Amino acid sequence: DPGGNVRVVVRVRAFLPREIERDAECLIRMDPLSQVTTLLVPNDVDPANARTKSRKVIEEKNFTFDNSFWSHDVEDPHYATQEDVYNSLGEEFLDHNFEGYHTCIFAYGQTGSGKSYTMMGTPDQPGLIPRTCEDLFERIAQAQSETPNISYNVRVSYFEVYNEHVRDLLVPVVPNQPPYYLKIRESPTEGPYVKDLTEVPVRNINEILRYMRVGDASRTVASTKMNDTSSRSHAVFTIMLKQIHHDMETDETTERSSRIRLVDLAGSERAKSTEATGARLREGSNINKSLTTLGRVIAALADQKQVTPRKRGQRGGEAIVPYRDSILTWLLKDSLGGNSKTAMIACIAPSDYDETLSTLRYADQAKRIRTRAVVNQDSGI
Ligand code: ADP
Ligand code: MG
Repeated sequence: DPGGNVRVVVRVRAFLPREIERDAECLIRMDPLSQVTTLLVPNDVDPANARTKSRKVIEEKNFTFDNSFWSHDVEDPHYATQEDVYNSLGEEFLDHNFEGYHTCIFAYGQTGSGKSYTMMGTPDQPGLIPRTCEDLFERIAQAQSETPNISYNVRVSYFEVYNEHVRDLLVPVVPNQPPYYLKIRESPTEGPYVKDLTEVPVRNINEILRYMRVGDASRTVASTKMNDTSSRSHAVFTIMLKQIHHDMETDETTERSSRIRLVDLAGSERAKSTEATGARLREGSNINKSLTTLGRVIAALADQKQVTPRKRGQRGGEAIVPYRDSILTWLLKDSLGGNSKTAMIACIAPSDYDETLSTLRYADQAKRIRTRAVVNQDSGI
């Protein structure tokens, strides 16, 4: 199926110590059978409910996604571990990469909802990015032991979009020097790309993990009142996989190139809720420029009518998708509405009604987007 819908999954995290301290209430339910995610209305939202201490069923919000990951309490038999998330999403996307498709998985949600935990994880609990890297090199080793006429080329890049600037995370920051920003170019064949971005060849799991850590340490981190360790940048980790297959009988060489994009977005909360001021506020509004544009791009794509082959090329709905209005959406153009199999992980906090509702609505809209992925293959004698 070349034209698939964006895969949308949701994951709820455990309480943090500060939430346990204020005796927070979990507003999320997930039905493991129907995959329905329910957001309960907190009692303090509706004074009538507070009086009766009961909720009106009618005010609960239900959403259905392709997958719902319950990572709230380890005791639950349906608790989703990092491995579960990889097994039900990352593994399948890596299958597509070996078939020659571009893929993109991005994590969306407010600061502190578990985006970085899901994408990067911790040394003890590695997330999607390190697991994808590990599986990738295991598959390469396996294939090479079975078929000697196939060779692989893996390269990696890592950049962040911060304050509408692109910064190469694999180039060390020079102390006392202003940060060095890269420009975006658009090629007729490859689409938008970051000019002069470092792309390093990697031969094994240790090399790729080392670059992953170098880049991760380099991410711009600024404290806000909401969460003082959260990053306010969008981080894009990209693996380029090239498979060169030589057919001994026909003497034909086939090349498949695929791109694996793993994106950890900045917190989706609005700048005003962080009580940020001054420079931070400007930063916030610029970060919101990429996020609000992402919202508009998703809305435009979700509303697009299916373009019939006959109508393709005519002035259609595609022209109005505002990709170029922000750096992030321009760079992710292909991943959002073009040649890519794409998934969105909506990360939610267990006890934050307004932000969670906004994230779930955002995710609900993304379900309607269809992309047009093709196998990227070149043949030559
Ligand atoms: P974000 O990147 O969305 O701002 P983080 O990934 O940093 O959020 O998560 C916030 C905090 O919650 C971190 O301390 C993280 O370790 C913890 N956390 C997030 N998701 C989970 C989870 N599924 N299980 C356990 N801890 C989690
Ligand atoms: Mg984060």
